[in-house]
This record gives sequence, structure tokens and C-alpha cells, in this order.
Amino acid sequence: MSLKDHLVARIRQDGPMSVADYMAECLLHPTRGYYTTRDPLGAAGDFTTAPEISQMFGELIGLCLAQSWMNQGRPAPFTLCELGPGRGTLMGDILRATRAVAGFHDAARIVLVEASPVLKQVQADTLRDYTPNWADSVAELPDQPLLLVANEFFDALPVRQFLRDGDGDGWSERLVGERDGELLIGRGPNGPQVALTDRLSDTKDGDLVELCAAAIPILTVIAGRIASHGGAALIVDYGDWHSLGDTLQALQNHEHADPLAAPGQADLTAHVDFEPLAIATRACGCRHTRLTPQGVFLERLGITARAQALSRTLSGSELDALIAAHRRLTHPDEMGNLFKVMGLYPAYAAPPPGLEP
Ligand code: SAH
Repeated sequence: MSLKDHLVARIRQDGPMSVADYMAECLLHPTRGYYTTRDPLGAAGDFTTAPEISQMFGELIGLCLAQSWMNQGRPAPFTLCELGPGRGTLMGDILRATRAVAGFHDAARIVLVEASPVLKQVQADTLRDYTPNWADSVAELPDQPLLLVANEFFDALPVRQFLRDGDGDGWSERLVGERDGELLIGRGPNGPQVALTDRLSDTKDGDLVELCAAAIPILTVIAGRIASHGGAALIVDYGDWHSLGDTLQALQNHEHADPLAAPGQADLTAHVDFEPLAIATRACGCRHTRLTPQGVFLERLGITARAQALSRTLSGSELDALIAAHRRLTHPDEMGNLFKVMGLYPAYAAPPPGLEP
């Protein structure tokens, strides 16, 4: 049975499902989910990510985390964690760049939080020179200082979508239903939504707001560990502050696709609303930095100097590729502005380098 047939059967039995349930099934269904069945990254896959574009991204992230660790008195042991590590490229670049940081590798316990069995295999191969551990959830992170990075992880978490319905306090949820075996989007009944009370003042009839409930418990664990034991986290993703509008998108073979067209065959993501993440961080007594465009963050960390250093040994097409990668990561017309960075850090420490309180 295809994933689509499974979803149609489930809807016939239980009624229309939330966009969040649809996303979760498409991405992580145990046998037919998008991430559970393939390595989606790179030129042969459906999308690419900053660490796959250039080693410079992971190197600078690694040095940023290592500097935070040094600023906080080099605590040992500490957890070095990545959420959704993809092919392990980012963690590999972090570890290579920090080899010369005295004591860093000896103190680090590497934990990879990954849901995909296929990608776990790829990560094990990429990181074969190290001793990573895998966890199914951040709840398994030990009670010790935590240095964490999440690049394009939160955008893969399921979102519910609500339409402001009329001039009162009512919302109706967008739901995935079926007709004659085809999936389609419909609307649930109009009613108040407690979780959206604070959005009544900045939305009007017809506006769409997305809620990512799954992100909050994850942030709560991360912020809790950092507040009580020290460390830092870097959350990098496309998105903004205070979400408005439908940002659910499907990517297949590097092209946009209809999110309902081929369940389990396309990557599904939604932009990250950083505001609820920041609120959850503060609720744990942890600090967060200002939301900063990726291009600005990487420039502050010295990506141009790093590109110049790397360029000295390159010529021809390799040099062109390096210049293109630098531009792609930093330029406002490319990933530089669309992607944002938010850092987490304890109240007694300085924010991670490249970010402001
Ligand atoms: N960070 C990597 C990969 C981004 S793709 C990079 O920048 O290249 C998203 C990653 O998150 C994949 O590794 C995917 O398998 C993982 N993932 C998605 N949802 C997850 C979940 N709920 N729990 C754990 N990992 C998840």
C-alpha cells in the first residue's frame, strides 16, 4: 500500500487530519516516510543545505561553539549535540575545525538526535573517526553542559495551520481530507483557540497562522540544560519572528511541488516562527540572542577571511565553486537573509560569538 492509499484509508476511518498529522506521516512514517526511506540531501536528492554547500559553514559554527565553551571555563565533560544531522557533514566540519582547540574533543560527548535509520547509517560513515552516540529525542541528553546546533531541523517539525474566521475570536483549522481517493485541503469548524489568543490582536479575517507544538518541549529541554549546566545552542533555519501566512512547502528534485501530490516522496517543511521558541527559552530562565540573518552571522565570524584563505590553493572551476558557495551562504538574495540564527546561552555568560543579546 502506498503512503497515499494509507492516508486515504486513515481519513476514511477517522475523518480529516491536521496538516501537522499529515506532515508527520509524510516525513516519518516508519516504512514509507520521506526521511525514513532515503537520504534526501545533495545534488542527487531533493534539496541541499548550508553544510552541504561548503565546509566553511560547519567550520565557523564549530569555532563559535568552541569559543562559547572556552568563555565558560572549558567545562568537562559536556554534550556536543546536533539535532537532525543529515549526512553528518556539519558535525564532521565542526569536529575537524575544533581539533586544535585544547581539551575540546576530550571533553565532548557527541550525541546525534536523528529519526531516520537511513541517515543514521550515513552519519556513522561520515563520522567513523569519532565516537558519536545516537538519541531518539533531546529528553535523553545527559544533565551536563550542552553545546548544540540545529540546522534545518525545526523546519521539518509538523505545523498546524489555522485561518482566522470572521471578526470574532474564531479560527478554523486547515485539514487534509479526501474525495474519491484524492487528498485535498479543507476547513474544520470555527471555534476559539486558546494557543492563538495572543494572535487575535495582529491578525484579521482570512489570515493564516501556523503553530509548531512539537518545537516547544524540545526547546524547553535545551534551554533547561543550558540554564542549569551552561553551554550554548545555535538554531539556524529559514523563518522569521511572528509567523503569518501559509509557509508549508514541498520540494522534490530541487523543484517546488504540491504538498499533497506525492506524500512521502517530497520533502515537506514550514518556516520556523522563532518567537515561540524564544518565549519557551525565557520561560526556562535561559537567554536568547537577537534573531540574526545567516549572512550577517557568518560575516561576523569571518567567512570572508576563511574563503580568502581557502582560495589561495584553488584555481579554475574549484575557485569559482568556492566564490559561488560564499555568495550562496551569505548574500541577501540567496540564503543570507532567508535563513536566521538564534543563539541560546546562560544568564551568566556572554552570547555566542557573532550574535547579540
Ligand atoms: N542538518 C542537516 C540536515 C537537515 S534535513 C543539514 O543541515 O544538512 C533534516 C534532518 O532532520 C534530517 O536528518 C532528518 O532525518 C531529521 N529529522 C527530521 N525530523 C526529525 C525528528 N522529528 N526527530 C529527529 N530527527 C528528525
